[in-house]
Amino acid sequence: MDAPICPNCGQALTRVVDVPYGWWEWDKDTGTYHHTTAASRVDVAPWVHTGCMGELRAFHPQNPAAAGQVAGAAPASA
Ligand SMILES: [Zn+2]
Repeated sequence: MDAPICPNCGQALTRVVDVPYGWWEWDKDTGTYHHTTAASRVDVAPWVHTGCMGELRAFHPQNPAAAGQVAGAAPASA
């Protein structure tokens, strides 16, 4: 079965992380670590899609999933 769809980027949610504060990745061009994060505020959603680092506020990986359905596509924020 295909994975649900990310409401942020439209790609399949094949990998999500519960570390919205992200990671630091080595940038050999600058010789420094580059910070990748979804946390633009303190109440960032607990789950983010690693493909786009978009928040998945209405998503939880242990909820029933439907193939090809946009994850958490509820009448949330308009
Ligand atoms: Zn995404």
